[in-house]
Amino acid sequence: MPRVDSGEGAWLQTEHGRLLDAISSWWVITHGHRHPEIVAAIKAQADRLDQVIFAGFTHQPAEDLARGLIDIAPKGLAHVFYSDSGSTSVEVALKMALGFWRNQNSPRKRIIALEHAYHGDTVGTMSAGGRGVFNAAYEPLLFDVARLPFPQGRGCDTLAALEELAKDAAALIVEPLILGAGGMHIYGAELLGKMKALCERHGTLFIADEVMTGFGRTGTLFACEQAGITPDILCVAKGLTGGSLPLAATLCMPEIFQAHYSPDRSRTFFHSSSFTANPIACAAAVANLQVWREEPVRERVAALGEMQQQRLARFQDDRRFESVRRLGTIAALDLKVSDPGYLAGRGPELTAFFHARGILLRPLGNTIYVMPPYCITAAELDLVYDAIGAAAAEFGG
Ligand SMILES: *Cc1c(COP(=O)(O)O)cnc(C)c1O
Repeated sequence: MPRVDSGEGAWLQTEHGRLLDAISSWWVITHGHRHPEIVAAIKAQADRLDQVIFAGFTHQPAEDLARGLIDIAPKGLAHVFYSDSGSTSVEVALKMALGFWRNQNSPRKRIIALEHAYHGDTVGTMSAGGRGVFNAAYEPLLFDVARLPFPQGRGCDTLAALEELAKDAAALIVEPLILGAGGMHIYGAELLGKMKALCERHGTLFIADEVMTGFGRTGTLFACEQAGITPDILCVAKGLTGGSLPLAATLCMPEIFQAHYSPDRSRTFFHSSSFTANPIACAAAVANLQVWREEPVRERVAALGEMQQQRLARFQDDRRFESVRRLGTIAALDLKVSDPGYLAGRGPELTAFFHARGILLRPLGNTIYVMPPYCITAAELDLVYDAIGAAAAEFGG
């Protein structure tokens, strides 16, 4: 395993040479490694306040970030709860949904989730995630959730199943528009909007897990914007600090906050951790929001989407691939193999092949995807697609 010594823009420097980070160091780096403004904010905050208990105390970076998030999030989300990772942001969301119903003496407690979903690796988030190789060993620990079929075409089966299940469920949780770790499966904004409307009709809470999709990945700041919806609960993490430090936030609508806000302390939303709202991480996130305000990030995201589309085109009719697809800045294609899926034998071989060519790609089994930081240039992206072409020549049928 190579040791990584430094990072700059879209590149990592390892002890063996340079690597082009075409998966944004596991989907977190948005503007590039070590964005100067984010680095400066981290340094300045480290000089002022490193860490403080966030129960009964507050601090400027957490307050600035909460205001900033509410400003940019889908309209109506009014409260922010901090945690440390995507998984914990989703745990918090699930707990908020359950607490909301319990504090109203409602029997609703079932969670509905999509087939192939990925929501994290803690026991709660694994429960909401699709069942498979990631969590088979922990099956005895997982709680039961109602499962919707992944949408095909117009998603009629998905909606019909939701119609049946939403009547007495606590919440539906979705990765809006694209299911990431489950295999980069894409579905439409129209269907996302319909799922939200259906939940509203049945009074079921709607949780959007934007841990991967947030901060521009799907072409808009949040994927939910493309359906014009505001979820009741929104989870963000990966790109929140531009990928520089671990931090997550769960935003919610006023009703959910109100259901927990009471002089009766048994109604409290009980969730805390040692590093909740770490000041340095919050300062990095505040700087990230500033980068979004001050730099043409939206234009960069749109341009990257176009660049991906042009380069994908060369594989569109290539019989060695199937399901050539793109959403915003994310491109994916499946190498045809005899054993498709996460455990496809070709997976580790492809990863090693790309690394040997100086490209950091890490296919999900036979699904090759490209999810670079927004600073990647056309010439750099060419290197990625040339490597994919070479991989097809080496491994394609
Ligand atoms: C990565 C991811 C998570 C988990 O985030 P961690 O920070 O790795 O815990 C949750 N949901 C989605 C959609 C993700 O892509």
